[in-house]
Amino acid sequence: MKVLVTGGAGFIGSHLGEALMQRNNEVVAIDDLSTGDTKNLHALMEKKGFQLIVDSVLNEPTLDALVREADLIYHLAAAVGVKLIVSQPVKTIETNIRGSEVVLKLANKWRKPVVVASTSEIYGKGSSIPFTETDDMVLGPTTRNRWSYACSKAIDEFLALAYHREKALPVMCVRLFNTVGPRQVGQYGMVLPTFARQALSHDPITVYGDGSQSRTFCSIFDVVDALIRLVEKNDTWGEVFNIGSDEEISILELAKLVKKKTNSRSEIKFISYDEAYEAGFEDMQRRIPNIAKLKKAIGFQPRHSISAIIDQVVESLKKSNSS
Ligand code: UDP
Repeated sequence: MKVLVTGGAGFIGSHLGEALMQRNNEVVAIDDLSTGDTKNLHALMEKKGFQLIVDSVLNEPTLDALVREADLIYHLAAAVGVKLIVSQPVKTIETNIRGSEVVLKLANKWRKPVVVASTSEIYGKGSSIPFTETDDMVLGPTTRNRWSYACSKAIDEFLALAYHREKALPVMCVRLFNTVGPRQVGQYGMVLPTFARQALSHDPITVYGDGSQSRTFCSIFDVVDALIRLVEKNDTWGEVFNIGSDEEISILELAKLVKKKTNSRSEIKFISYDEAYEAGFEDMQRRIPNIAKLKKAIGFQPRHSISAIIDQVVESLKKSNSS
């Protein structure tokens, strides 16, 4: 199969590309390298059957040719990372909405199946833990930048599902919860690579708020496996799936665990949300997926514990620091 991965040079896209190639697919990655990096494609660049197109998904003529050639599309290209979203809201909204518009329009033109990557941000400040695919979205006001990301992704989901309902296009929306693993960078705000880097260099580990907020962290390897297995089923099209781990950990516990595992001398430093992001920033206190639907569809069970994931992330950081 020839698979088109938009955002293919990103953290998730590059791991997905590797897994698809291992399963004997051809992969074409398109990425504008805004947050993606060719370094992520180290293992793929020279491989026969892999191709990187450095361009934006907003470039319709380029994308038209790629979609026409593809058998399946994973649409991952998006503005990601809470820090980036807060600092560049125009880019976030435009990339996410226009990008998906173009991809879905062309997928429909050439009748190609598409998996649209969405996000757990969609659940916003909802408090019905764990979050189930049919739960309401509970978002903050438009005066808080953070919520633009959830809204832009909600529009992507609406549009994808509309193509399915109205035009019988095979589409699937996957809501990715916090996904972590080797090669993820902390630059755009992601907590685990940030903590790991701080701990390894014995800098203060920056816990935002009081650290009582919690998340679940799913290994990129489990996520990629789910992404591939979901399209192998016939009854998953037209559906929305949570993908994540259900092992909950508070951010303070995470900081302590990273510090312990790296034998770090770092102090744990608490920083207010206003200082970390922007005045009035709203965080979610808990974010845990209900993965019953995913379990039923593909027998999903996360194989990597948070402890094992931290070890992998630390190892990969050490390796990239020494190279
Ligand atoms: N966080 C933190 N220190 C950091 C980066 C993030 O305490 O250096 C917190 C952040 O406020 C949030 C959690 O870690 O409560 C997860 O943040 P991330 O940006 O990785 O993902 P989110 O779940 O917010 O999308």
